[in-house]
Amino acid sequence: MATKRIPSFDSHNPATAEVVGTYPIMNAKQVGEIVSHARNASIQWQKLGFSGRKKVLLAWSTLIIKRIDHIATLISLETGKPVGDAKLEVSIAVGHIAWAARHAEEIMRTSYRAPGLLLANMSATVQRSPLGVVGVIGPWNYPLFTPVGSISYALAAGNTVVFKPSEYTPGVGMWLEEIFSEVAPFADIFTTITGLGETGGALCTSGVDKLSFTGSTRTAKIVAAQCATTMTPVVLECGGKDPVIVAADANLERAVDATIWSAMANAGQSCIGAERVYVDERVADKFISLAVELAQTIHAGAPGDGNYGPATMPSQIKVIQSHIKAAIKDGGTCAYGGPESVKAPFVQPVILLNVPEDSVAIEEETFGPTIIINQVKNMREAIDLSNASSYGLGANVWSKRQGKRIAAQLACGMVAINSTFSFAAIASVPFGGVKDSGYGRVHGPEGLLEYTYPRTVVRTRFNLPLNLLSFKRKVREENLVVRLTGWLKGRFG
Ligand code: NAD
Repeated sequence: MATKRIPSFDSHNPATAEVVGTYPIMNAKQVGEIVSHARNASIQWQKLGFSGRKKVLLAWSTLIIKRIDHIATLISLETGKPVGDAKLEVSIAVGHIAWAARHAEEIMRTSYRAPGLLLANMSATVQRSPLGVVGVIGPWNYPLFTPVGSISYALAAGNTVVFKPSEYTPGVGMWLEEIFSEVAPFADIFTTITGLGETGGALCTSGVDKLSFTGSTRTAKIVAAQCATTMTPVVLECGGKDPVIVAADANLERAVDATIWSAMANAGQSCIGAERVYVDERVADKFISLAVELAQTIHAGAPGDGNYGPATMPSQIKVIQSHIKAAIKDGGTCAYGGPESVKAPFVQPVILLNVPEDSVAIEEETFGPTIIINQVKNMREAIDLSNASSYGLGANVWSKRQGKRIAAQLACGMVAINSTFSFAAIASVPFGGVKDSGYGRVHGPEGLLEYTYPRTVVRTRFNLPLNLLSFKRKVREENLVVRLTGWLKGRFG
């Protein structure tokens, strides 16, 4: 008798194309069943309370750190990034789990609000309640850090979670679930499902109470449309085209060091990686020569060899190549590397100069180890060009005296002054973007509150002779309210 074949897919080592693992492609029925188990578990998970959940989450984070060698090797195998980079990623993710576990209670504490003069006999409170089941869809570029930024905050708030990792990094997603099950007091609190885009689509319409998506802007729009059919709210963490602004008073050595790392580390596959630099023309020559000098010392290669690895997703190579070619065709020049730097699956560092602002290389996310350096006359021009993008994720500003002033004028979700990437590792601050970079936030109190809903509870503390919400109301009482409104100019609060 012929047995029915379960559809599956392979994950690959992008440096060698070898198969790392094989995983089932889950269909809508299977996803629905898992979500319904997660819904049943959510009642018990909520009952555990903040201290019970904190214990579980801290035990999870401790176990992840204990097994860091194993998971860093697996991350490196599935993404191609150096093991050292993977370890850093795991460490930062663990910081987020611990922060969410320790702060959930205080962030979700019932808040007391002023009822206003007219309703001074009432008490007004806002409670915070977990949503129920949260669906998380993750990308491959930081396959542990990125989803954990949603998963741990949703769990700490009292939700159960169903997670679909990227099809390029399913092993990391499965490992996270396995490790969680070692510390979980019961089943179905955190479950990983595997599959391609369609499995993600099934999660969107499965009836989860919120969907937290991290990935490309193109997929985010499909996810939002799918979620709209079931009125499922979404958090969308999408791509970016992060600018770096370098003022004349910047510490150029540090600015170059951080910018080249930000642009090239992880093979340029960072949503908050530097993609374009606007440098004051007075210091541009020095900045460019230092950047080229530094780029000469780094190279792409397999883990253990390169400073960064291959393109994790083979199809990205074409995008990177087309952006380099477009930049040159549109009038830009190469200061270091060029089209010949692309040798799949690796891309060696590329520095491009004076690329017109209407080039696709400036307008779209490249997601490769390339950086464009354009000169500006002043900081006003740098700010305007930074803000002209359809994206608005992060930005870096390098200046000794003007950092805060420039940062306040940038249309984006996060700015690092005299630093790069740092906001992603500070658990207490929200992470997310505006415009095509998405909406909603992960991390910090704002990120935790995304996985809760506010419940307003007002209570009569004592009865007033004036009862406006009654058919027994008198005309003179109505007139009194109107007169009061006039005297107080509407300031009831
Ligand atoms: P992607 O959009 O291709 O895929 C992301 C996830 O969506 C994957 O799990 C994929 O299986 C799933 N998916 C695909 N089609 C779907 C569908 N129709 N319905 C539901 N799910 C579907 O993105 P990627 O290539 O994995 O990740 C790279 C992108 O992610 C880059 O643009 C990067 O900037 C962005 N990113 C953003 C952040 C952030 O926090 N803002 C962090 C990391 C990465």
